[in-house]
Amino acid sequence: MIAPGLPAATLLLEQLPFSHSFGSLPPAFFTRLQPTPMPAPYLVCASEAAAALIGLNPAELTTPGFAETFAGNRILPATQPLAAVYSGHQFGVWAGQLGDGRAILLGEVAAEAPGGALEIQLKGAGLTPYSRMGDGRAVLRSSIREYLCSEAMAALGIPTSRALCVVGSDQLVMRETPESSAVATRLAPTFIRFGSFEHWYYQDKTSELKTLADYVIARFYPELQDEAKPYQALLTEITRRTARLVAQWQAVGFMHGVLNTDNMSILGITIDYGPFGFMEAFDAGHICNHSDSQGRYAYAMQPKIGHWNCYALGQALLPLIGEVDDVHAALAGYADAYQEKIDELLHAKLGLQRREEGDSALIDGMFKLLQDNHADFTLFFRRLGDLQQSNPAADSPLRDLFIDRAAFDAWVAQYRLRLGQESSNEAARRAAMHAVNPKYVLRNYLAQVAIEKAQDKDFSEIARLQKILEHPFDEQPEHERYAALPPDWASQLEVSCSS
Ligand code: AMP
Ligand code: MG
Repeated sequence: MIAPGLPAATLLLEQLPFSHSFGSLPPAFFTRLQPTPMPAPYLVCASEAAAALIGLNPAELTTPGFAETFAGNRILPATQPLAAVYSGHQFGVWAGQLGDGRAILLGEVAAEAPGGALEIQLKGAGLTPYSRMGDGRAVLRSSIREYLCSEAMAALGIPTSRALCVVGSDQLVMRETPESSAVATRLAPTFIRFGSFEHWYYQDKTSELKTLADYVIARFYPELQDEAKPYQALLTEITRRTARLVAQWQAVGFMHGVLNTDNMSILGITIDYGPFGFMEAFDAGHICNHSDSQGRYAYAMQPKIGHWNCYALGQALLPLIGEVDDVHAALAGYADAYQEKIDELLHAKLGLQRREEGDSALIDGMFKLLQDNHADFTLFFRRLGDLQQSNPAADSPLRDLFIDRAAFDAWVAQYRLRLGQESSNEAARRAAMHAVNPKYVLRNYLAQVAIEKAQDKDFSEIARLQKILEHPFDEQPEHERYAALPPDWASQLEVSCSS
């Protein structure tokens, strides 16, 4: 499907109209280099929807030249590969210089996107000057996870980088165990991060800081150019977008897993998928990243961490903004923006069109019920949409998610009363709720099944899962089992930073 206004997806690879806007920044912002070829690359998966964003003909995706190109083995003449430098706070601690340790930007291709183009970036394409102790590679496992989740998040309507494809190789790389390697190709209007600004601030390089801020404003926030205080306005807007993004994560139970400032987009989109997870048995303290022993990035922490990260950005922008009070004023918008968005989303999830006095008590009661019973987050909201206002006898699929039936009955009675204050009819409410409460999310075990098959060179499950997750709100009765509770073995799955 092509968005209206986009050119038809007819371009051959060689015809992609590359430009180099990021690459026109001064040389200090990056290092030009070539990807490192990988032996015998093969296509693992490719997204026609992502290809359409850059006008690429879907027939190109299955050509040998496609796999060679997105393995980094074949260089399109119009590309100007580079690795960008940035820094960041990791787990709350200043980590100094990081940078694209394994990502290589090829350039931008015209698209209907902020800035008028999408950057095309290879992740896992070999060593760069910023690789530090790493090998410049990505493993097949995490590349498939990033691919599936980027495309799934887009289908959920959550701002995100996109994934064009994953190309694998039998070349092994060492992690906890030897694993096969891969290159994932990602698309985003820009991969500039909070840490890209921190990089210059902590080196006292205000001139570079200003160059970067001016670039970001001119290209992605042109409406701020005429503001009296454009840098403060930039911080205000990034803060607001970050707050809204985190609210969207909370509403679908998405946990990023590594919310370091180097993984925070200056556009407020989800980037750098690693040990992410979707909430299953609800636990507000759930930690999806096995390496996060303190639970800094647990589900319930994400809203606070989003704010903390904006503070780190505010600190970095202080030399441009000038007044500490102006920084604080910009950051103060976070709480309201978050609250407003999460209220809107939770009301929609509950099928409530109006806002009433007792709603926050109803919502608090719901989260307590979910927490006490560790009910499946996705199934709860989906089945709530099927609730019949005047027929409690039909509640059993929903009720079955709870061990404490009396507590469920008490809450649902309150919810029924509240529904009585709404004017929408039952069919309309059901349709509205199903349009915002996904039936299908990328449960860890679903990704794991697809990964294990891919490790045996069977890529069919990735394609199947991608197709299902492209329509997360549709019933898809033939795929019912993809909406089921995770099997027992799934509780043993551990996802760590190692990728
Ligand atoms: P992440 O937590 O995956 O966002 O990565 C944090 C930093 O480590 C970034 O600068 C990455 O480029 C770098 N990095 C992660 N894995 C590797 C690797 N295998 N080789 C080189 N750099 C890496
Ligand atoms: Mg990262």
